[in-house]
Amino acid sequence: MNVHDLDAATLSEQLAAGETTSVDITQASLDRIDAVDGAVHAFLHVDAEGALAAAADVDARRAAGENLATLAGVPVAIKDVLATVGQPTTCGSRMLQGWVPPYDATVVARLRAAGLPILGKTNMDEFAMGSSTEHSAYGPTRNPWDTGRIPGGSGGGSAAAVAAFEAPLAIGTDTGGSIRQPGAMTGTVGVKPTYGGVSRYGLVAMASSLDQAGPVTRSVLDAALLHEVIAGHDPRDSTSLTAPVPPVVEAARRADVAGLRIGIVTELGGEGFEPEVRRRFDEAVELLSGAGAEVVEISCPSFVHGIAAYYLVMPSEVSSNLAKFDAMRYGLRVEPDGVPHPSAEQVMAASRDAGFGDEVKRRIILGTYALSSGYYDAYYGSAQKVRTLIARDFAAAFEQVDVLVSPTAPTTAWPLGDKLDDPLAMYLADVATIPANLAGIPGLSLPAGLADSLPVGFQVLAPALADERLYTVGAALEQLLEERWGGPFAAQAPDLQEVAR
Ligand code: GLN
Repeated sequence: MNVHDLDAATLSEQLAAGETTSVDITQASLDRIDAVDGAVHAFLHVDAEGALAAAADVDARRAAGENLATLAGVPVAIKDVLATVGQPTTCGSRMLQGWVPPYDATVVARLRAAGLPILGKTNMDEFAMGSSTEHSAYGPTRNPWDTGRIPGGSGGGSAAAVAAFEAPLAIGTDTGGSIRQPGAMTGTVGVKPTYGGVSRYGLVAMASSLDQAGPVTRSVLDAALLHEVIAGHDPRDSTSLTAPVPPVVEAARRADVAGLRIGIVTELGGEGFEPEVRRRFDEAVELLSGAGAEVVEISCPSFVHGIAAYYLVMPSEVSSNLAKFDAMRYGLRVEPDGVPHPSAEQVMAASRDAGFGDEVKRRIILGTYALSSGYYDAYYGSAQKVRTLIARDFAAAFEQVDVLVSPTAPTTAWPLGDKLDDPLAMYLADVATIPANLAGIPGLSLPAGLADSLPVGFQVLAPALADERLYTVGAALEQLLEERWGGPFAAQAPDLQEVAR
């Protein structure tokens, strides 16, 4: 087995046992990036020098007998929406091309403090708006399972980097599904923690009441290990929770669902869900019930309005958050053509026209409209009421069951370009992931098998602050499925070395 094939938990054991070094592991990831990223385009920026220096530092500290964090020495890739000192942070946009932040996001600072070398920054839909990574200003990322297809989005770069074995670990962000839906498309594990569980300081805001960073990995235990590193209170984020980090690692190791009550959400699995996706989901549920879980079906009637409410709340916050890219304070600055003494407004208009892509503009316009006087109550106000109804549906459901489950996405990965001209079709890809963001609860996606040789995702949802339940169920299902497959899901992935040649 190649070093780059190993999961983070195994690498960390080998490091602790002195069987390998962080420099060797990090070099293996960098070599793999060299070999396959031309075909995948998961990375916008690779920091070989910085990653190797961090690796050498952690190796030296280990050799000196220092007590290190579990994941110390295991490299990680970071979605290009999190601020990183010394590395560009573009958010997949021309607006921030070449911007190198003067500070680290808290998530990044915690990774560095725990000794994880940072390989580089991963591709994404512009400002995290999209479900395919085709809205990146720097070209799309390709799905390692079929490079003619999308890897999901907006965090397609992080998901593809992990699926293509370019990185054992990555960080994503999830506003309406951008960790979980790419997880489903690429056969990776992705977790959106409870809102406020992971600091948003230094995460370039898309929709502040929905955004949450989380782990992207190839195993449930790896996700728990990474979750533990990045979670916990941060005084720099006013929405950061003070509650202790849920016992996620312990839960992933326990992996026992006997007696656990699992609810299948009626509204997330019917019409619009591909039959093969539904079949993999049903088979997974059967495995869980065979392992002693009690399975019931539960209706959450307000979920049918989830996408509509999201596409009012999210663009409203987008229009306000992206107002700061005004060519005056920072970001791209373009002088309008043929205007000798342009006004501030003219420079702003020219810069925003050149700096933002179509999808971002669409959402700014939609949000500005929804918030405008006379329409505010009808649109934004109504959407907020629907948001409350969705939260109440979850609360009622969690009185009857411990976790809810659904397919993560209605389809498998579609061919590049397929939904680019039809924004509404693209928005439907997130029908199953959006309710969790609107309610602030945690969600996990893990691979449930293949449909026509493409990965299918299985989603687990838990009450706020009960993130550990995601890991109990996820790890139990992963074990049962691996027994059936005779090994980890990623072992079924096509050989990218062939593709890259
Ligand atoms: N695909 C969704 C959207 O386009 C979710 C994006 C996200 O979670 N960042 O808004």
